Amino acid sequence: MTLATITERLRAAEAEAGRAPDSVTLIAVSKVQSEDRVRAVLQQGQRIFGENRVQEAQTRWPEFQQEFEDISLHLIGPLQTNKARAAVEMFDAIHSVDRPRLANTLARLAQERGACPDLFVQVNTGAEPQKAGVLPEDADAMIAQMRGMDLPVIGAMCIPPAGEDSAPHFQMLAQIAERNGLTGLSMGMSDDFETAVALGATHVRVGSAIFGAREG
Ligand SMILES: *Cc1c(COP(=O)(O)O)cnc(C)c1O
Repeated sequence: MTLATITERLRAAEAEAGRAPDSVTLIAVSKVQSEDRVRAVLQQGQRIFGENRVQEAQTRWPEFQQEFEDISLHLIGPLQTNKARAAVEMFDAIHSVDRPRLANTLARLAQERGACPDLFVQVNTGAEPQKAGVLPEDADAMIAQMRGMDLPVIGAMCIPPAGEDSAPHFQMLAQIAERNGLTGLSMGMSDDFETAVALGATHVRVGSAIFGAREG
């Protein structure tokens, strides 16, 4: 598939759900993709990209940012505390705030810099032991804590368990966001972004459907 096809499907899903055109932000997940593939998608006009590793993003985006204007980078993968400084310098949004200690570090950096990326709390909606994110029952407290630190927490993010119907997870995330007054909902990937849009997603993270299967 191509960027144009995915954009078309996204606009159709918005219309189907009675949502305003362009109300959902498409994040093109470029992790692990070759530079050629990423450049091709940049040349087609996409400017919002998702990466899951700080280091990988650091090695290639500064060059693309010289070549193309107005690129916006979103961190969607786990963030180690010792990479937090590099992350806040590079990314416009961080979707993977998943523990109080990381929030603390981000708050300190935000104060120092007088600026902070938009933040999403990652919620482990399936309570999977191996997966990052706060447990659903801890989400309200985490959001309150972050607000107490003056952090710009704008939304919630989830990655549903593989092989399960995503819809109940998206619904749970939407409820968490709603009861906490969060307007951002980062949910939906290549296989389920239309379902996510129907359930209120504001940001969908689509990788392989745009770029092709990840190599290696
Ligand atoms: C890789 C990744 C995606 C994109 O997955 P696709 O199935 O390739 O669309 C979305 N979100 C996160 C957090 C990811 O790590």
